[in-house]
Amino acid sequence: MTTGTEDAAQTAGSGDRQPPGDELRAEYAQLAEEVRAHRTAYYQDAAPTISDAEFDTLFRRLEELEALHPEIVANDSPTQEVGGEVSAAFAPVDHLARMYSLEDVFSLDELKAWLDRAAAGVEQRSPGATVAWLTELKIDGLAVNLLYRDGELVRAATRGDGVTGEDITHNVLTIASVPKRLAGTGHPEEVEIRGEVFFPTREFAQLNERMVAAGKAPFANPRNAAAGSLRQKDPAMTAERPLDMYVHGIGARTGLAAETQSETYDLLKAWGLPTSPYYRVLATQDEVVDFIGHYGEHRHDLLHEIDGIVVKVDSFALQRALGHTSRVPRWSVAYKYPPEEVNTRLLDILVNVGRTGRVTPFGLMEPVKVAGSTVGMATLHNQEVVKAKGVMIGDIVVLRKAGDVIPEIVGPVMALRDPEKVRAFVMPTECPSCGTPLQPAKEGDVDIRCPNARSCPSQLRERVFHLAGRGAFDIEALGWEAAIALTQPAEPAVPPITTEAEIFDLTPEKLADVKIERDKKVKGVVTGRELVPYFYSKGTAKKPSEPSATTRKLFTELEKAKKQPLWRVLVALSIRHVGPTASRALATAFGSMDRIRAASEEELAHVDGVGPTIAVALKEWFAEDWHREIVDRWAAAGVRMQDDVDESTPRTLEGLTVVVTGSLEQYNRDEAKEAIITRGGKAAGSVSKNTSYVVAGENAGTKLEKAEALGIPVLDEEGFIALLENGPPISDPDDEDAEVATEPGSGAGTGPDTPEAP
Ligand code: NAD
Repeated sequence: MTTGTEDAAQTAGSGDRQPPGDELRAEYAQLAEEVRAHRTAYYQDAAPTISDAEFDTLFRRLEELEALHPEIVANDSPTQEVGGEVSAAFAPVDHLARMYSLEDVFSLDELKAWLDRAAAGVEQRSPGATVAWLTELKIDGLAVNLLYRDGELVRAATRGDGVTGEDITHNVLTIASVPKRLAGTGHPEEVEIRGEVFFPTREFAQLNERMVAAGKAPFANPRNAAAGSLRQKDPAMTAERPLDMYVHGIGARTGLAAETQSETYDLLKAWGLPTSPYYRVLATQDEVVDFIGHYGEHRHDLLHEIDGIVVKVDSFALQRALGHTSRVPRWSVAYKYPPEEVNTRLLDILVNVGRTGRVTPFGLMEPVKVAGSTVGMATLHNQEVVKAKGVMIGDIVVLRKAGDVIPEIVGPVMALRDPEKVRAFVMPTECPSCGTPLQPAKEGDVDIRCPNARSCPSQLRERVFHLAGRGAFDIEALGWEAAIALTQPAEPAVPPITTEAEIFDLTPEKLADVKIERDKKVKGVVTGRELVPYFYSKGTAKKPSEPSATTRKLFTELEKAKKQPLWRVLVALSIRHVGPTASRALATAFGSMDRIRAASEEELAHVDGVGPTIAVALKEWFAEDWHREIVDRWAAAGVRMQDDVDESTPRTLEGLTVVVTGSLEQYNRDEAKEAIITRGGKAAGSVSKNTSYVVAGENAGTKLEKAEALGIPVLDEEGFIALLENGPPISDPDDEDAEVATEPGSGAGTGPDTPEAP
C-alpha cells in the first residue's frame, strides 16, 4: 500500500511497464468518479449504497492504478483528499490545523511492513530514537474537532474535507460526555481536540425500530446512525439520541505542555474529556499484534463498534519528524478487521416450521461471503421483526455476521430500492408444510404456530433432527439431510417414518427406496435438480444397490443410543422447556421414566432445577396419547428408560454449585457435568455469587475473571478431582490461610427457576 503520490512515484518508477492507454485512463476516471459518489452518499447523506468493504476495494484499486501509473494521478483524485464535503445545511468553518484520514492496512503482514517502514523513517530522521506505539481502538463513528479556548468549548465541527468542516457546535453540546467547560486547571490558551462521536451499539436496534415505526428509513449501522444523529439541523433532535464520544487526537495547540500523545490523554482525562479506557503504549510489534488479536475476539464486548485498530507513534517530536501526505499522517496506520457487513439482495422471505410448530420467517439472499463464511439465509424471527426492520422482498439489504454470531439482516439500503421491483412480505395463514391453518400460541402472541404437532412433516423433521443431536441420543449419522430423507423424502410418497415413535423400528429394507432432491452438477456447474438415493448406493447392473457406509453407521448408532442415560432420552422427547439441565435434574430425582410419568405436578415442580413451568409442560406432554406411544415404542424397542443407581459413588458435592470453564484434560464438558451431578452437585453454566467453585481449565475466559472478581474459589483440574473424591475441605475456623474459602455460596436451590429454551 502506498501513502500518496510522492511514495507512489518512487515505488512504481522502476520496471518496464506500459504507458497508460485510453482504456486504462477511462477506467481510472470512472473509478475516481464512482469513489467520489460513494463518499458523498456516505459522508453527506449518511446513507451509503455499498458496504465499507466494497468501498475499500474500489479505493484500493484506485491506489493501485495510481501506483502503477503515477502520471495519471489527478490533483483532485480521492486518494489525494480527505473524504467528506461540507453540506449547505451547516455553516462552514476552517480547522486551525488540518484533519487527516488514516492509511489502511488489511493484513498483519501489511501492518508489520508498515511498522518496519515507520521505524526506519524514525531512525533516518532521529538516529537512535526508540519508538513507542500508542495502540488504540478504531472507533467506527464520526470524526469531530472540538476547539477549546482557555478551557471553554467555542466550536465543534465535522472533519469535512479536512480543511473546512461543518459547524455543529449546538449539536455536540447535547452530548453529555463533552464538557462545555474543562475541569481542573492549566488549560492551554487554545487547543483543537479531535475525537469520534459514536452511537452505542446496544441502543442501535431500538433506534431503527423507532425510525421504521415513524415511516423513516432505518440506518444501516451505528456509524451511520451517529452521523445522521449528529448532523441534524435541529439540536433538539440530536439531544434525543444517546450519542457518546471518545477523544483520540490533538490539532492546533498553544500552551500545551506534553511530549507524547499518551501523556496528553492523561491531561485530557483530568480536564473531564472522554478518553478511551482501551489504549496502550506498546514497545514491540508482537505486543501490537497481540492487542489486535485480543480486540479481534472482544470487539463485540465494547460499548461502541470498532472496525480496526489504530497504531500511532506516541512521541510528538517523532510525529512531526515523519510528517504527512496530503491525505494521511505518516506516523499512524489503521489495521482493519475483516468486514462483518456486506450488501446483498433479499430474494425472498420464506417461513420455516420449527420443532414446536413455531413459524419463523427467514430471508433467502444471494449468497455472500461475510466474516469468513458464505451466508444465504438469515432468520427474521417473526412478522413484527420483518416490519420493524422495514425490509421488502427484492431489496438490497445490509447483512451482518459478527464473528460466530448468527447472521442478521440489519435493514434495507433505501437509496437502492426500486418501488416497482419490491414487494412486502405477507405471513402465510396456512402451514406451508401440512396446510393446517396457523394460529397464535396464545391470544395476542406475535409468534404463530402450526397446531398439527403430531403429523406436520416439518415439525417431525425438526424433532427427529433434535433427538439425534449431541445433547440427546447423539446419533452422528442422523444429520439435517438424513432427517429430511426420513420424514420428507422426494420418494416414496409415504416416508420411512411418520412419527418419531418409529425411529428405533427402522430397518435397512425400509430405507432402500428413499430418494431426495439434490443439485445436478456437470463439471461442478449446477445444471438443474435430480433425484438421488439417500441411504443406499446407486447400484449398477454388476453391483446391486446396498446400504451406504453412513447408513450402516446409522444402525450401529441407533443400537448404541438405546443405552444412553435417562436424561438424554428425556431431552430427545422434545418436551417444551425440557433441556439438558432439567432432564438431568428429573433423572436424578426420579431415576426412571415411569416414575417421572407417574409424578404429580407438585412433585415435579418441587425438584431443584425443574419448577412450575416445566412441571406443567411435562404433565401436558404426557397427557397426549401419541406422546406416551413414543415412550412405549422406544421402550419396546429396547431404549433404556431408567438409570442404574450407582450407590458406590459418594455424594460428595451435595448442596454445591460448580462451574467448569476452559478445557480439562481428563474430562470433556459433558463428562465433567456428569461427574458433578452424580455426586449430588449442581453443574451451572454461569458464575454468580451462588457459585461454590469454579473449575478453570486451559483457556478459561471471562468466567474465570468473574469468579476472581466475586471471590469465588477457583480450582485447577487436580483440585477438581480432589473435590469430586473428598468434597469440600472441612474448614478450620482458626486457619486464616485455608486454601479455599470457608463459606462457598450454597448454590443449589437458590437460583431463580428459569425454564430452558425449548
Ligand atoms: P477511516 O475511517 O478509515 O480512518 C480515519 C478516521 O478514523 C479518522 O478520521 C478518525 O475519525 C477515525 N478514528 C477512529 N478511531 C480513531 C483513533 N483511535 N485514532 C485516530 N482516528 C480514529 O478513514 P475515512 O477516510 O474517514 O473513511 C474511510 C472509511 O469510511 C472506510 O472504512 C470506508 O470503507 C468508509 N467509507 C465507506 C463508504 C461507503 O460507501 N460504504 C464511502 C466512503 C467511506
